[in-house]
Amino acid sequence: MGENMIVPVPESWAGQGAVDAATYAADHARSIADSDGFWRDQIGRLDWVKTPTRMDESDFSESNFQIRWFADGRINVSANCLDRHLAERGDATAIIWEPDDPTAAPRHISYRALHAEVCRFANVLKAAGAHRGSRVTLYLPMIPEAAVAMLACARIGAIHSIVFGGFSPDALAGRIQDCDSTIVVTADEGRRGGKRVPLKANVDAALPHCPSIETVIVVPATGADVPMRAGRDLRYDAAIAAASPDCPPEAMDSEDPLFLLYTSGSTGKPKGVVHSSGGYLLWAAMTHQLCFDYRPGEVFWCAADVGWVTGHSYIVYGPLANGATTLMYEGVPNWPSAARIWQVVERHRVATLFTAPTVLRSLMKEGDDLVLSTDRSSLRLLGSVGEPINPEAWRWYHAVPGEGRCPIIDMWWQTETGAGMIAPLPGATPLKPGSATFPLPGVEPRLLDGEGAVLEGAADGNLVIARSWPGQMRTVWNDHDRFFQTYFTTFPGYYTTGDGARRDADGYWWITGRVDDVINVSGHRMGTAEVESALVLHPKVAEAAVVGMPHELKGQGIYAYVTLNAGDEADEALRRELVQWVRREIGPIATPDAVQFAPGLPKTRSGKIMRRILRKIAEGEIGALGDISTLADPAVVDDLVANRVMA
Ligand code: ATP
Ligand code: MG
Repeated sequence: MGENMIVPVPESWAGQGAVDAATYAADHARSIADSDGFWRDQIGRLDWVKTPTRMDESDFSESNFQIRWFADGRINVSANCLDRHLAERGDATAIIWEPDDPTAAPRHISYRALHAEVCRFANVLKAAGAHRGSRVTLYLPMIPEAAVAMLACARIGAIHSIVFGGFSPDALAGRIQDCDSTIVVTADEGRRGGKRVPLKANVDAALPHCPSIETVIVVPATGADVPMRAGRDLRYDAAIAAASPDCPPEAMDSEDPLFLLYTSGSTGKPKGVVHSSGGYLLWAAMTHQLCFDYRPGEVFWCAADVGWVTGHSYIVYGPLANGATTLMYEGVPNWPSAARIWQVVERHRVATLFTAPTVLRSLMKEGDDLVLSTDRSSLRLLGSVGEPINPEAWRWYHAVPGEGRCPIIDMWWQTETGAGMIAPLPGATPLKPGSATFPLPGVEPRLLDGEGAVLEGAADGNLVIARSWPGQMRTVWNDHDRFFQTYFTTFPGYYTTGDGARRDADGYWWITGRVDDVINVSGHRMGTAEVESALVLHPKVAEAAVVGMPHELKGQGIYAYVTLNAGDEADEALRRELVQWVRREIGPIATPDAVQFAPGLPKTRSGKIMRRILRKIAEGEIGALGDISTLADPAVVDDLVANRVMA
């Protein structure tokens, strides 16, 4: 679907991007043919305490397995994000903070001010016993102190582990226990969409199960009166005021861990993904510059939460390493109304907005008027990440918010990859709605069939990566064997992404969804994303999720969960219409066997549909739904179970 639709590089972008098409092609080819040479040229993007002479020493084979880059380099990540910018742009804004409450005042924090605060907080952490290699858990709302805490850990070489502020005390406790952190940095409360989140109370509920924690540092974000435990709890503001602003950055080995982060848990128990210092930062900085063509003075807004890897790489590390002005938004895109996201763009003259398909679908169903009521003339680029973007949502994003002017950067990557992997470069890559386009320099994707044979040309298969890249995760915290088993044994010699993809006749890459979600109908392999995109194309459908179900004749049948737009009625006639609609859009082979209307879909807290639960319900295995602790709203599951459709 849409494979032949090409959106050319707009006039206004021709020759304007960081690189042009020929340079991209030459860089990509060199990054594979002369990897060492290519990376020797790239390391100058960062300031090293000791410049590495060794480049990629990774090996995916079982006998010599290791992921290692720039091994003799030494670096400090916070110095790269702060100190090196002070001379040239110390007074430029590093962080613009937009509060949840639209009537409250935004904050502008300069590089100089951020540097001073990070140094002070680094000294606070040291005084609380943090040191090189120790773990610090951050459980914070989207406030500037989250970035301060991350960079302060990086300054002294402590490893941060951010736990998204929407997680429960249980989820927090599990993530603290897994890495034995000794410090939690939290806030009295968080604000999101007009509501208060009781962060400190959640920490208090989690800590009886977390004997490793010695100190809790509490940022007064709302000023709520929260109980403080003497001897354990410190106030952030008082501690900062008493701390010295002088804290020399620790010279870390390039391979020392910068942070660990638990995956969002769409497919199973979250894994503690470990990222390195030098390789990770280089990958975040390089991809931020190439994909978003960052220009000094521009406002860059990644509308994710720092609790997800997207927030790590594109709110904090990538932009700050490049000296950018990064916007940090405390709230949610559609509060107080679906116009908010565009009002923030207008208020801060945002040049680049990077968000997720789930957000776009929810905004799209509210109609265009709210978008059109705002001035989006500052926008130059729009990004999408997190799930395959349905061509319908792509075209809307491009035409309405982007006024047809802004390239859509659909970036495919994973917590495990550190930053972007497959994405267009603005000004260089003609786009196809729904395709992540081409691999970035340094990335060598392949398609394999089920037996591991390499597929050439136009093909559909398992997406694997054939060589390491600097931002690759180094291990699963405390479980190196799980790391190897999970990612390197399905197809020996490759990093297995777990995602399926198609390469079309023009060489464009299309992510078809997770391999576990591929449906095999009468011998035809079908990505769930394709059927979902067909459903979303229907004017009454806001969102759809498709899974396989056992089917006597076909092997697998297609079970579709459909959420309608506000105001549209679910009835038998519409059910039949949708079945016909998909038949017409894709073909009879894709005819859904069951359509269930669902007021809500089970989503992770990062907004991704958890298909594994939908699969269980479709299969009738409602007693074995598995871990649902990472669901944003576990109550939707009851409705889904109650209204299950028998095919
Ligand atoms: P878990 O690994 O714990 O099950 P998760 O895979 O949802 O959780 P993330 O690392 O946040 O955790 O998400 C990465 C996944 O998101 C990718 O493997 C892919 O399935 C999907 N994804 C991300 N970006 C895109 C994109 N641009 N197009 C298609 N899919 C994407
Ligand atoms: Mg994953």
